[in-house]
Amino acid sequence: MDTTASKRIDGKGTAVAVRADVAVRVERLVAQGVTPGLAVVLVGEDPASQVYVRNKDRAATGAGIAVQTRKLSAETTQAELLAVVEELNADNSVHGILVQLPLPKGLDEGEVVRRIDPAKDVDGLHPLNVAALVMGDEGLVPCTPAGCIELCDRYGVDLTGKHAVVVGRSMLVGKPIAQLLLGRNATVTVAHSRTTDLAGLCRTADVVVAAVGVLGLVKGDWIKPGAVVLDVGINRGEDGKLYGDVDFPGAEANASLITPVPGGVGPMTIAMLLDNTVTAAARITGLEA
Ligand code: NAD
Repeated sequence: MDTTASKRIDGKGTAVAVRADVAVRVERLVAQGVTPGLAVVLVGEDPASQVYVRNKDRAATGAGIAVQTRKLSAETTQAELLAVVEELNADNSVHGILVQLPLPKGLDEGEVVRRIDPAKDVDGLHPLNVAALVMGDEGLVPCTPAGCIELCDRYGVDLTGKHAVVVGRSMLVGKPIAQLLLGRNATVTVAHSRTTDLAGLCRTADVVVAAVGVLGLVKGDWIKPGAVVLDVGINRGEDGKLYGDVDFPGAEANASLITPVPGGVGPMTIAMLLDNTVTAAARITGLEA
């Protein structure tokens, strides 16, 4: 029997399952007269952002969500961008607003995020949603961290009492994942670029979440036998292929469960965006989804 294959968390397949669940929730809202709407705002010509936006559009449309993509030129001013956000805030057919980051130089991302109606902030980055996450209140949770927890849930990983080491402390990934793990009663350590003895710390972890952006930073022998490894990193190798932050072959030998890159955490991000959009639509309209 191939035991290594069964250790791999199938993010692609899980995302398909999540998207199917989302489609059912969409149908439920449509039957009550509301089609969930997602607005994606893309400023400038960044090639990676264009691919992400296209994928989001396709996946949302596939789940029955009404998508509108607003493409704005790289010369768009802060005031013009804020005006688009305000227009979408006021549009009753839009329940989720996503401004694709990073924005071109000169635009103030923080101000743009703060201007999005928190009820429509499907990226979960508005300060009120950040506060809700920390306080354990109802809010919208950033998609990639939400995807990590969804993978744990669907693979039956009980986080209670586990020592989780999150490597990376960004607002987008590291910090919200740490909060979500705390919410699941894990004991959480957040490591970052100034952490000393990262190897020793990871060796004590029952769950390692790597969200750094450094190819192969987390070595296979840092993984305790039986640990769960969630690799959020997306890095392009010299061979042109995508790799995570974890040395996959080495870590897979020790882990009980591990996400590959690609095909692990990545596909979950868009699936959770769709889930957030339906959740936002249900809350805004007061309907069951
Ligand atoms: P970021 O650059 O904002 O944050 C990186 C974090 O890593 C920082 O907190 C920094 O302190 C820490 N760090 C840097 N070097 C380190 C080191 N040597 N040791 C320990 N910690 C170190 O990046 P981010 O936005 O959090 O993204 C992290 C990675 O996740 C990137 O590869 C990004 O492409 C990927 N990502 C993937 C998805 C997805 O859908 N799968 C979504 C978002 C980000």
